[in-house]
Amino acid sequence: MFKMTPNVLRNLISKKATRRYPRQVRPPYESVRGELRNDSTQCNLCGACALKCPSQCITVDKTAGTWTCDPFACVYCGVCVDTCPAQSLTQKREYRPPAVERQTIFMQGEPRKKTKTPEAVESG
Ligand code: SF4
Ligand code: SF4
Repeated sequence: MFKMTPNVLRNLISKKATRRYPRQVRPPYESVRGELRNDSTQCNLCGACALKCPSQCITVDKTAGTWTCDPFACVYCGVCVDTCPAQSLTQKREYRPPAVERQTIFMQGEPRKKTKTPEAVESG
């Protein structure tokens, strides 16, 4: 009991070790890897990010011109950002706030037009 007393007194007068989240939010570190953003003006829908993603949470539909990411499956590793040849992917420097419903990160790009093969062009 007497051994504990100094610790108890110290804890009573010292600053709290925890924060009252979400009222008090810790400022993010410099190297935080947060939610993904895709720049529709840069993305060419090559699909490299979807191929490399370890959690397979990116879907690229070239025909529809869409790029989607499931942020609940994402592990925020940053592999897709490093892989993207167009450098259109970035990660926000903050953590995603808690969500009460399922969300998707969506980007509408330019749908790919089907190119006709020389034979198809000749035959009309
Ligand atoms: S985000 Fe980058 S890697 Fe992914 S489809 Fe677009 S251009 Fe390709
Ligand atoms: S950060 Fe990692 S897990 Fe998330 S979409 Fe990119 S590659 Fe996939």
